[in-house]
Amino acid sequence: MFDSLTRRLEGILKNLRGQGKLTPENIKEGLREIRRALLEADVSLPTVKDFLSRVEERATGREVLEGVDPSAMIVQVVYEELTRILGGTNAPLMVSNKPPTVILLVGLQGSGKTTFAAKLARHLKEKKQRTLLASADIHRPAAIEQLQVLAKANDLGFLPTDATQQPADIAKNALAAAIDRGFDYLVFDTAGRVTIDEAMMAEAKAIQKALKPHQVVLVVDGMTGQDAVQTGERFHKELGIDGVVLTKMDGDARGGAALSLRHVTGRPILFLSTGEKIDALEAFHPERLAQRILGMGDVLTLVERAQGKIDLEKALELENRLKKSDLTLDDFLSQLREMKKLGSLGDILGLLPGGHKVDSTMTDAGEKELKRVEAIILSMTPKERAKPALLDGSRKRRVAAGSGTEVQNVNKLLRDFEQVRTLAKRMKGPKKKVPFAPPGMRGMGGFRFGG
Ligand code: GDP
Ligand code: MG
Repeated sequence: MFDSLTRRLEGILKNLRGQGKLTPENIKEGLREIRRALLEADVSLPTVKDFLSRVEERATGREVLEGVDPSAMIVQVVYEELTRILGGTNAPLMVSNKPPTVILLVGLQGSGKTTFAAKLARHLKEKKQRTLLASADIHRPAAIEQLQVLAKANDLGFLPTDATQQPADIAKNALAAAIDRGFDYLVFDTAGRVTIDEAMMAEAKAIQKALKPHQVVLVVDGMTGQDAVQTGERFHKELGIDGVVLTKMDGDARGGAALSLRHVTGRPILFLSTGEKIDALEAFHPERLAQRILGMGDVLTLVERAQGKIDLEKALELENRLKKSDLTLDDFLSQLREMKKLGSLGDILGLLPGGHKVDSTMTDAGEKELKRVEAIILSMTPKERAKPALLDGSRKRRVAAGSGTEVQNVNKLLRDFEQVRTLAKRMKGPKKKVPFAPPGMRGMGGFRFGG
């Protein structure tokens, strides 16, 4: 649902992470790119501005620059601020302590109100709540019947209404029926218009007055980008909405509406509707969506784990050695072991952005490769580890035999190691750092540790 935005942000953050030392300048450049990505995803300008000013303030402050791992901190800051702009925490549906809880659905025509009404009733039914559905859409032929059909198909409470009555009267009757028959919820569906007009607002206001809903829920088509934001602002100004539902989030929407609506209305997003099927409904969790948008898998867990378990002393020592370019196979091995503390390779990959795309045969192979590298290095003498050039044909055969591998495996390890060492040699000055990954990890997300 946020594919292109996710790809962009992932790239930008990866780029930031790849730069050894972060400076206020390269942070600002990264933020400019984030700004472009958000605007292209149709996020409203005020939302982008507010978001970025918070991120910038934090990202260029001491919290980040003097932190243990500035590039990881930036990801964290972006994630936290994105979560905040999306509402912080999940906002549950209102419950009145005197049933029925009355929910009024408003929104433009075709936004998905009727579909959502049925989805909500079904969702509530799963929580053992009885819902009465009623509709005051007297304008479109068969609109009331549409709700009836959905209710019947899913065994939901439905009140037939008379399309010759005024919407406000239908509302009064529905409320009386819901009280009378002891329903827990009344979900009231209304008519929309293609665009916002006075007649629709007047009608919605009349219904609101008659129904006295506990919660006015605006249903917005998430595919409509900037228009969705305007719709949200207008409805909120006229009716005072209490929550938002975004529909059609299964489409290839650029997702800007989701990011802006909470910010421009100040009202929580309650649900995402993600398909035409009755069960395609998700409670809205800001932190989860932020993770999805950032393509993070569960990268924060990984960052936390890395910060907790990686031996910083060792990492710094390694960094210094890299700079002096006297890297040994012992360094290689200790880095490998640090990495292993984070869990199995499969574990780590699952937590990395895009990690779910890695199939298990690959992770198994990677895991085996790591074990093999460890075994080979351990079969060498300390001298050989410090000076791999000593390894001639007969020594290689001995190491291969000792580690239960083949000479070609030993050769491959030495080639990989040589590559890393060459890279290390090329590093000039303290600015650049080599993304260090033992052979088994190459091309699998190459996560960088320490420093
Ligand atoms: P209303 O005019 O606001 O009552 O909108 P409807 O509930 O009648 O929905 C309009 C159209 O959008 C229908 O064809 C629905 O099946 C479709 N629709 C509603 N919600 C979703 C959704 O989340 N995803 C997709 N793909 N289609 C939806
Ligand atoms: Mg409808």
